[in-house]
Amino acid sequence: MRLVLRMRGKPWWVRRMQTCSPAVELSAEEKLRRLVNAALATPYYSRRENAARLLAASHLQELPVTTLRSVLDAITDFENPKVPAARGLFRPPFATSNCALLGKKLRLPEGVRELDSNAFGRLHLSDTRMLAAAPAVLRRICAAIEARQLALPQLCEAVVVLEGIEEGALHAGERDLLWRALGVPVFEQWLGLDGELLAWECDAHQGLHFNSDKADLEVVDDELVITSWSALRTPILRMGTGWTAEIDKLPCPCGDARPVLRQITMHKHSLGTRQAHAAAGA
Ligand SMILES: [Zn+2]
Repeated sequence: MRLVLRMRGKPWWVRRMQTCSPAVELSAEEKLRRLVNAALATPYYSRRENAARLLAASHLQELPVTTLRSVLDAITDFENPKVPAARGLFRPPFATSNCALLGKKLRLPEGVRELDSNAFGRLHLSDTRMLAAAPAVLRRICAAIEARQLALPQLCEAVVVLEGIEEGALHAGERDLLWRALGVPVFEQWLGLDGELLAWECDAHQGLHFNSDKADLEVVDDELVITSWSALRTPILRMGTGWTAEIDKLPCPCGDARPVLRQITMHKHSLGTRQAHAAAGA
């Protein structure tokens, strides 16, 4: 059987990222200074020794990695009270007329509506064509469908998995579970702590394009370490993510030149951290 891969072309928000004039982009030094200024307003970075380190650093790599455990254990210590609670824009993989987004506070484009994560039992009452939610909510939806407590006959476009360091990512084999229960293509997205889009899956489904214009990505001791330049509400410099991945810089069939993260899995040193966090009910 010949498999024909149909590409829809890049979504509008990817085209806009590529056509944005470099002249309006901040330089690397300006991005670092802006993030440092935001960080100095947070309880964590305003402590004397942390502030001294920040002010002395001329390059990002001169700063220590902020561990995932220290972030998850006291996330409010990293919040900048001078910036209102941030809501990133939800970016569906393609235009949709009826998408339900559950359990995540994001700004919504046309055609997308927000539902409480406990309200998924009402999904069958609408003509939902696309579904977007964090992994834990999607697991509950799949369980309800497999138990024949819920049916989504109009779902025909996509399921968008909204992942993050608080929400976690899909476990091995769960993409198959989503396909089996929902029968639509899966698009994973990685959101930062301000709801900003850090990485997204394109139509080629070969991994997640990392948004290298808006965030810095390093690999330290096999762990992905990120610095999101636009997260001024929750500014964290060199945050350990608890994830590991292969980074592919070869051209993607979709035409986007941004690096692709493949095989994202939990980092071996973070297993205890995530489990302890989940056990604490966070
Ligand atoms: Zn691609």
